[in-house]
Amino acid sequence: MDASGSQQLFDDWDDISDSEFLNIPSEQQSIEPHLNSESAVKHSVTFESPCASTSSVHNRTAEALGKETVNTENVRGLKRKSLHENSCSPMQRFFKRHLNVTLLCDQSWCEMKTVYGLLKPFVKRKEMQRAEVQIGKEIHLSREREIQDVVRVNICTREDAEAIKLLKMLHMTPLLEAGERVREFPVFGVLEGVYVMGVIDELVYNQKGELVLNELKTRKQNSLPSSAQDKVNCFQVGLYKLLFDGLVRGEVKKDHVLNHLKLRSGQVLGAGVQAHAKSIGVQVTTFEELVDALLITVSCSDLPCIDLLQIEYYHQGSSGTIGTRVAPFDEAQLRAELQSHLAYWRGRREPKGVDIEEAWKCKSCLYEQTCNWTKNRLQVSDQQADHASS
Ligand code: SF4
Repeated sequence: MDASGSQQLFDDWDDISDSEFLNIPSEQQSIEPHLNSESAVKHSVTFESPCASTSSVHNRTAEALGKETVNTENVRGLKRKSLHENSCSPMQRFFKRHLNVTLLCDQSWCEMKTVYGLLKPFVKRKEMQRAEVQIGKEIHLSREREIQDVVRVNICTREDAEAIKLLKMLHMTPLLEAGERVREFPVFGVLEGVYVMGVIDELVYNQKGELVLNELKTRKQNSLPSSAQDKVNCFQVGLYKLLFDGLVRGEVKKDHVLNHLKLRSGQVLGAGVQAHAKSIGVQVTTFEELVDALLITVSCSDLPCIDLLQIEYYHQGSSGTIGTRVAPFDEAQLRAELQSHLAYWRGRREPKGVDIEEAWKCKSCLYEQTCNWTKNRLQVSDQQADHASS
């Protein structure tokens, strides 16, 4: 199911659920952006492997960013200010009614990078145009199309946009109950007081009758990822489990959806959405009726909580599986990590960059040249070196 019209304006759901992984360069790899358009030159940044000369990376990146910022110096000044502006929380500053799983996983990799991604969306957009990201998207789409058709539905309002996803869930729930495999299953709920959304790659029962979540991660390299990337992926599937389990347990309430997303309960759904609902056997007129129908269907279904979390690493070049990993699930640890992330979004602390042990992440980061965290860290190490030599 797909929505046409003004969906992009409304779509905050991470519909390609491995985008954050593809967005994280491996510490072992050399990445070359494939930006072919003329305008892309202005924002392109050359990556090198960590063992390459740092100064050469600095010089080329500075040159690229210099071109990029011809007309944006004033904007950059404002952005620097906004990074440390404490008058309102980042949730308010970035106009966020909710967070999505992809963003939280980005934050697990480097919080400062996530913030820069929001402040400089054009850099992020260019990064998302890299060939391996696009190939990963195509692989996900083709997998989805193996088992479900794409239906285009016209939407007119924010309620219509959300309705499309709820209808997708309503359509998939009985299929999953009947033992069929479903892909791109949306999930949402309130975690630690914040509304979080995500999209599960695949749900299927295994031979033991366990409900298994499969997360597909496509890779340019024919090798398993680093432990740092694997940790982020485990965090991601853990969040999906929390959200899915909350839905089937009936913990998600109608008011959560309406109030957190600021949607109008009585909004009449567009003609295209109503027609689509009818075609899958759902009789609803307003958005509120649809939310009621979805929450009752999922919570009263026979669906269990997710039993097993799996991550499949898939090689883009050979179209073969590299390996499958069973992700651990420790709810207390997961919630503690989430709370730490949310402390930033609630404005209770400043954003943090990577720890010194993970400084290798900065070598392939688009924001290395402008990152205040890196600059401060270099200053501190210079001061320590001066102190030691005096
Ligand atoms: S340079 Fe390092 S600390 Fe700064 S945003 Fe990038 S990864 Fe994070």
